[in-house]
Formats: sequence, structure tokens, C-alpha cells
Amino acid sequence: MSNKRIYLDNAATTRVDDDILNEITKYFNVEYANPSSIYKESRTVQNAIYKARSSIAKLINASDDEIYFTSGGTESDNWAIQCVKNENKKHIITSKIEHHAILNTCKYMKASGLNITYLDVDKSGFINPQTLEENITKDNTSIVSIMTANNEIGTIQPIKQLCKIAHQNGAYFHTDAVQAVGKLNIDVKDTNVDMMSISGHKIHALKGIGALYIKKSTHLKNLIYGGSQENYKRAGTENVPAIVSLGLACEKLISNNKEQNYIRNLRNYFIDEVLFKIDDCILTGNSDSRLINNASFCFADIDSKILIILLDKAGICASVGSACTSGSVENSHVLQAIGVDDKYINGNIRFTLSKYNTKEEIDYVVSNLAETVKKLRNN
Ligand code: PLP
Repeated sequence: MSNKRIYLDNAATTRVDDDILNEITKYFNVEYANPSSIYKESRTVQNAIYKARSSIAKLINASDDEIYFTSGGTESDNWAIQCVKNENKKHIITSKIEHHAILNTCKYMKASGLNITYLDVDKSGFINPQTLEENITKDNTSIVSIMTANNEIGTIQPIKQLCKIAHQNGAYFHTDAVQAVGKLNIDVKDTNVDMMSISGHKIHALKGIGALYIKKSTHLKNLIYGGSQENYKRAGTENVPAIVSLGLACEKLISNNKEQNYIRNLRNYFIDEVLFKIDDCILTGNSDSRLINNASFCFADIDSKILIILLDKAGICASVGSACTSGSVENSHVLQAIGVDDKYINGNIRFTLSKYNTKEEIDYVVSNLAETVKKLRNN
């Protein structure tokens, strides 16, 4: 196994699906027309965009005209938070464990004069709906933005319940579902969310493509102005190969229970093995309401930055905290928010699986991890 690389960082990004890659190549050098032109070639491309939009809508139970393509999860989050129009209300509620795409957008909104409330979470990373009730105000809360599932610890939030509280108080509800799409069944009609962010590269499509679901009744200004693309709401010539890749990825995810079960079983096996074979180790997040591909641990008395380098040398790709902060020495804001003990907080490591991982890989990782942790503790 020593020359082989084992990729267990699928929350950071995923390998593009081979079928998708084959299918989209033609949009670079054959069907490359600008979809806004009027000749036959353009109509072919328009149809491809139409089909992609429809596949995304079908996956989340939306209407086609509620799906807007963006450059990714970050843009979708920015659009929802920065541009929602809800009378003259000036209060945003979010949580302490959101991705930086939300947290830093909120920071910007604060600098522009809005009030921001960051809700606490419990030890598993859950937001207590009562906490939302205590902080929301009918007069001033414009939008509540709570992620469907966390990128570091995988905790899945009670979105339907939180959304109901937002609506009862006249606020819009947005959810960042970047990590959740494809890993749990999402139905925007059932949860009743007003906006939802999606990203392509987390589900085996290309990087630089995403979507924002916008329920018809939502008042949202443009983030980007220019041409008439996306029904005048998001200008810029469409990134056709990427859009098609996202559509195909969603198509593959419709009724993919078999694949979901495969990933969940493999992940469960991984967690059980790690907890059984390595002493003084905790699983962060919640064991039940958890993304099917997430296995994140904290090892006592370990510096995970060293651990990750040793795993890399052994051919294993994993990550410390969130991908976006992996180069920084600061502890993860998520682990701080769930109150991980000092003894454990520096020993955090996140493994996120995909359909491409095998049991053989997991066995190799567990034995290597156990050996490496032991060695580091003995030094
Ligand atoms: N939101 C969450 C929860 C994420 O995990 C990420 C990426 O890691 C993003 C947003 C940003 O998405 P993108 O990389 O498509 O901009």
C-alpha cells in the first residue's frame, strides 16, 4: 500500500466522478457556444443548462425556476446574507459553528451597521431551538442562517424546527447545505427553507460551481449585476461545463440509497475500529445525527499538526479542523464552541469518506493511525 494515496478529505473537496468528467469534456471544445447567442449551437447548450437546473431542483424537491447557479457555496452564502430584503430589519442570527463563508460575511454585515447574534451550540454541536426563540425579534430579525450540517464534526441541525421559529417571527431562513447535499435527503418543501446553498465540488462535480435555491416568495437583491443570465438575478456568462457537472452529480444522487448505505457502513466501521483500538480518543459531534461520511476525532495529548504530517508520509490525506483554517495554528472555532477539553483540543483530526474508499483502505488507516498515535505519545 505504501505508494498508494488514500484520500479521506472529502469534506474539503471530492474527486470528479469519471462519468461526469467524460460527459462534460465536449462542452469545452465541441459544444462551447455562448448560451445567450441565437444559433443552433447555443440552443444545444441552453438545453444542457436547462437539464442541469432541473436535476438540481429534482434532488431537493424545488421548482426549476427556484435554482440559480453561482460560483460555489461561498457566493451562495454571501448572496443570501448580504442581499436579503426584509423591510428595514437589521438583525441577523446565525450560529457559532458556521463555515467562514457565513461568519466572515456576517462580520462584513456588522461593519455595515447590522447586529449579528451568534447562537451557542451544545457539546454535540446542536442548536437548541429555544435559544433561537430567545434571541429572535419580530421587529428586527431579518434572516436566520443555520447550516444543515457542520463541515468539521458532521452534526445535522433540526432545520425544519428552526425554520418554523424564524417564520413565526417574520424572518427569512437560509441554510448552508454545502456538506449535506447527497449525504442526507433534502426536501426544501418539507423543511420550508427560503434559501439554501449548494456547492459542486463536494459532490464529485467541478470546483467553482454552486447554486442557491431561492423560494419564489423570497425578496433577494442581486449580488452581481450585468447581463440577463439567471433570469437577471446573477449576471455573467454561464460556466457551462461546470453547470453540467453539477447537474449530473445531482442526477446521480437522486435515489442513491445504496451508495449512502455503503459510505455510512464503512464510516461506522472506521469509527468503531478507531475507538476500540486507540485509547483516550473521543468522537466529536453526535454519533446519530451525523453526516454519513464524517469521522472526526480528538486524541488526548497529541498535536494533530504533527500527526497529519506523519499520516501524509504514510499516504493518508486527512485534515485538521476545517479545510479553510488548516494552515493556521488557531484552534478550530467549532471545537471551541462545543467545548472540547484542553487535553483533547490540539489532537483533532477529521476524516471524511466518499464512495471511492474501500474497507482495505480503512484497515490500513486504522492500523497506521494507532501506531502513529502510540509513537507520538511515547516520545
Ligand atoms: N459552506 C460549507 C459548510 C463548506 O464546507 C464550504 C467549503 O468547505 C463552503 C461553504 C464553501 O463552499 P465553496 O468551496 O463551494 O465556496
